[in-house]
Amino acid sequence: MKALDISGLQKTYKGGVQALKGLDLQVNEGDFFALLGPNGAGKSTTIGIISSLVNASAGQVSVFDYDLETQKESAKACIGLVPQEFNFNQFETVLQIVLNQAGYYGVTRTTAKERAKKYLTQLDLWEKRDARARELSGGMKRRLMIARALMHEPRLLILDEPTAGVDIEIRRSMWTFLKDINEQGITIILTTHYLEEAESLCRNIAIIDKGVIVENTSMRSLLSKL
Ligand code: ADP
Ligand code: ADP
Repeated sequence: MKALDISGLQKTYKGGVQALKGLDLQVNEGDFFALLGPNGAGKSTTIGIISSLVNASAGQVSVFDYDLETQKESAKACIGLVPQEFNFNQFETVLQIVLNQAGYYGVTRTTAKERAKKYLTQLDLWEKRDARARELSGGMKRRLMIARALMHEPRLLILDEPTAGVDIEIRRSMWTFLKDINEQGITIILTTHYLEEAESLCRNIAIIDKGVIVENTSMRSLLSKL
């Protein structure tokens, strides 16, 4: 099954910027997929549309065969998003943030608490569960965003520059975590500026430039060309 199937996706922002110009992209279930491209290429716009934060101007998107327009709620339930910007309430505690997210997706309280403990422990945040978000380091905040995105156990996890500004040691531990959950069956798509990150994690890669896909290949064959 396709985790993601995008065809002819277009986005023109108010003001006339054509961010996407007929983008086609398929990602198989179980894949660990990298979306690379220079600044302004359209990566965040693509992710925004997949996660229903940005409206497309034209084209089709389906997530695990759920059409994003006609079966939006089912599609959204499949997706966990780790945005680039920290967007949680800085005055809430780590535990509140993940539990609120679970509540938002209709996860029962008992299950939410179990998952909170599991994911916060795996991401080395359980000790910090009563700390307010504003007290966390940058690396901890990034990990909190991952834990939060997993609370409804999405089948597809999308991460926009997940390790931006994170030091190499923490970055490596985040990679190990992402590899583990991918092996457990979650499809992962990430954007990154670090080629090293894509190289060590991703099986397949698409390069986006000026609103279209210019390369779509396995990591192995891309590396053999460099
Ligand atoms: P990337 O994530 O690859 O850096 P973006 O998707 O953020 O690329 O941006 C693609 C293009 O769309 C850029 O030219 C950017 O300036 C423009 N853009 C992004 N968001 C908006 C917006 N909200 N309004 C107008 N233009 C935007
Ligand atoms: P308390 O015992 O103070 O309610 P909890 O740890 O049980 O503390 O909950 C922390 C916060 O998360 C509370 O504000 C609670 O209302 C909120 N919350 C929202 N949705 C959920 C949910 N699905 N499961 C658990 N807690 C939730």
